[in-house]
Amino acid sequence: MGKKTAKKSVKRARKWVYFFGAEKADGKATMKNLLGGKGANLAEMVSLGIPVPPGFTITTEVCTEFYQNRQREPQRLKAQLSKSIAKTEKIMGKKFGDSMDPLLLSVRSGARASMPGMMETVLNVGLTTKTIPGLIKKTDNPRFVYDAYRRLMMMYSDVVMEKAAGIEPKTEHDGIRHKLEAEIELVKKKKRYKNDTDLTADDLKKLCGTFKVIIKKTLGKPFPDDHDKQLWGGISAVFSSWMGKRAIAYRKIEKLPDDWGTAVNVQAMVFGNTGEDSATGVAFTRNPATGENAFFGEWLTNAQGEDVVAGIRTAYPLNIHTKTRDTKHLPSLEQMWPKLYKQLDRIQNKLERHYKDMQDIEFTIEGKRLWMLQTRVGKRNGQSAIRMAVEMAKSGLINRQTAIMRVNPNQLDELLHPSVDPAEEKKATELAKGLPAGPGGALGRVVLTADDAEAWAKKGETVILVRNETSPEDVHGMHAAEAILTSKGGMTSHAALVARGWGKCCIVGCSALHIDLKKKVININGKKIKQGDYITLNGSKGRVYEGKLKLTPADPEHNKWYKELMTWADQFRTLNVRTNAESPSDAKAALKFGAEGIGLCRTEHMFFEADRITAVRQMILSDNLAGREKAISKLLPMQKGDFKGIFKAMAGLPVTIRLLDPPLHEFLPHTDKDLRALAKSMRVPFDKLKARNEALHEFNPMLGHRGCRLGVTYPELYAMQARAIMEAACELKKKGVKVYPEIMIPLVSHVNELKDMREVVLDVAREVQKKYKIKVSFTVGTMIELPRACITADEIAEYADFYSFGTNDLTQTTYGLSRDDSGRFLPYYVEHGLLKEDPFVSIDQEGVGELMKMAVKKGRSVKGDMKMGICGEHGGEPKSVVFCHDIGLDYVSCSPFRVPIARFAAAQAALR
Ligand code: PEP
Ligand code: MG
Repeated sequence: MGKKTAKKSVKRARKWVYFFGAEKADGKATMKNLLGGKGANLAEMVSLGIPVPPGFTITTEVCTEFYQNRQREPQRLKAQLSKSIAKTEKIMGKKFGDSMDPLLLSVRSGARASMPGMMETVLNVGLTTKTIPGLIKKTDNPRFVYDAYRRLMMMYSDVVMEKAAGIEPKTEHDGIRHKLEAEIELVKKKKRYKNDTDLTADDLKKLCGTFKVIIKKTLGKPFPDDHDKQLWGGISAVFSSWMGKRAIAYRKIEKLPDDWGTAVNVQAMVFGNTGEDSATGVAFTRNPATGENAFFGEWLTNAQGEDVVAGIRTAYPLNIHTKTRDTKHLPSLEQMWPKLYKQLDRIQNKLERHYKDMQDIEFTIEGKRLWMLQTRVGKRNGQSAIRMAVEMAKSGLINRQTAIMRVNPNQLDELLHPSVDPAEEKKATELAKGLPAGPGGALGRVVLTADDAEAWAKKGETVILVRNETSPEDVHGMHAAEAILTSKGGMTSHAALVARGWGKCCIVGCSALHIDLKKKVININGKKIKQGDYITLNGSKGRVYEGKLKLTPADPEHNKWYKELMTWADQFRTLNVRTNAESPSDAKAALKFGAEGIGLCRTEHMFFEADRITAVRQMILSDNLAGREKAISKLLPMQKGDFKGIFKAMAGLPVTIRLLDPPLHEFLPHTDKDLRALAKSMRVPFDKLKARNEALHEFNPMLGHRGCRLGVTYPELYAMQARAIMEAACELKKKGVKVYPEIMIPLVSHVNELKDMREVVLDVAREVQKKYKIKVSFTVGTMIELPRACITADEIAEYADFYSFGTNDLTQTTYGLSRDDSGRFLPYYVEHGLLKEDPFVSIDQEGVGELMKMAVKKGRSVKGDMKMGICGEHGGEPKSVVFCHDIGLDYVSCSPFRVPIARFAAAQAALR
């Protein structure tokens, strides 16, 4: 019994309503969980002495109670609410429901995190047949009053009487809002008006009468003519909207929990539309498009907030800074009402200094009196985020650490690649959607084969190569193309890897494309795009558009804010950042981006050039050692030349070279014509070669004869590569060039594989150093890219100087999910929430990540200081970089264009 009473009294003492007004507020900015973002900031502004219409916030806890209590508000709410209304009335000098000088209220939702457009608002609450005459008398503006009344009826019937009541109109046209809007259009048409503003007081009065009839007829209930009923209806509707279909769907996408609940903000109405001495506007404390530290905004006289945003009337520039060529003739607040502008300017300065971040604010001027309606952290693009962060840190508003944390690493992409103009993108016709494999924007003419891509590019055309999937044979066309689009493949498919390596825009797994190579046409959802037609890609979003959209070029070299921020990031990070590169030019590009070594040189990428492929094919297709050795000896000088180029470019920085990895058949001719030519060059009968070619076919090449299995079965192959590496290193060292090779064995699953391959490499290394009479520092390590390697990482560590996690294969083999086929179904998994993210994009920390942790622990239990890194595609993805920092890796390695992103993410990892 005692216990029960205690519980009850706790409940009674609970504060449901937080008042704000006249420089005093019960809440503050830090109380977002209880008051929602909007309510907490309103309270904070009031405490700062900023003019805010008084009002109160009903807490998110009431929302929770509402749902626990069969959608009814808690008992004690009424009493607390009445007190707050009385305080509001006192400050405003008006009474809610009064017939002479009525106070009107707004009712707005406000969750912890902003959920734009998802929840509800009802304005002008308190207009009834009793209060209307008084308000007309008071304002001497019947047009304004009836306009406010019809807006209230539209919002209330839609939000409270239809949506919150769970009434589902059969079609959009049956919805009450649509019916009322249609009625306005009818009057306008009859009277030949162009704009809503042409409606007279009389028109609006009549409309209000018609609205009442339509509402009753459509929803079966009259529009409430009682101020209290309206207020409670509004409050309940906001709570109900938390569980509305749209809000639930939005939370699912944004991963916001359902049990947060929303707060309700009830506030005295102030009007920007009472006449020519009233106005309303939205502004940013800094320019959100450029980041410039200049007050920026738009306003309109005699208007309500939605008029500024909706674009019904051309908004005026707020000040001289905001004027453009098109708006320079329009009046600015700065020029028209300088005193009010100065007050607003002081407030915006105060808000930014207080919140230490760019604010997005809303204000209303009623009868030349300024009121602030909202402040929140403003959204910004990548360029401006960087500029603002750096300038704020330099002015001492924030420190460098905060500046780094303010920028999302992915936003750097906007600077590193050309991007599609967002305004044009909004208007463009979307043809199809795919996986965003290579960021940035590109536009060009469609070509359907690699040869055409190369030929057209030679003629000076900018082309986009469109294929079902790409193979190493397409590489010349991929290189010539501006961007690559494929109908198949996942985020680590061939096309994705190659495009990313070159920083090219790329979309893969775009399954709506049906390519007809014979007719040279692509069918996309019934539309035909011919070879030669222009398309535009947004590789950051995976969107394909018809025609040419405007692109903004990338220019990081000339962006002083970006350069400065990156130097700060480097001071804080502890993780090294390397690059994946296989040519001196890629290596040099990566050095410019700040790479500190090569973490993966995929030697197979060096074998596809025309002068080498024949020797490679001869090697593979020889059925005896002598034949193989003959072919291999042709490859040796070429490989040596490659390594020299790379070592020179990297000037003593570590270079990890991986010995041959992919299944051999990838190098083989696909047509009889090519096979015949090869047979001739090898002096073997065509049929014999064809039979051998067929014998090499594998059902599951990704899990077949690849990786170190090639070296185990053809040791002469790995020996040749080791020789090329060591001879290149010795020759350069003799000339005084610093070199540091790290030789890496791929796809090890059992320690014995590594043990054998290490011996092969060490034997060659000993012999070469003896021959050149010089010692070179080098190491031999392995990729950890199979689950068995993770589980036995302690055994493997005995024979490895370093580990490099190949998270592409590790993800593929942990999930048992082909990386080249995942594009067909993984997007579905992500869209339907089965997986939070594509595991080929961001490390699956609970699965693959656990295996990595195990391997780090086991490896270091044998060799405490073993160098460990990652060279899978995840090495350039911000969340994965943070994970690698957390599990104690020494470096991440990624494609050159992602190096800055990885450096930045590494700094954030160290600063959290
Ligand atoms: C990996 O598997 O993560 C890796 C880097 O190797 P590849 O992508 O070449 O298989
Ligand atoms: Mg691999």
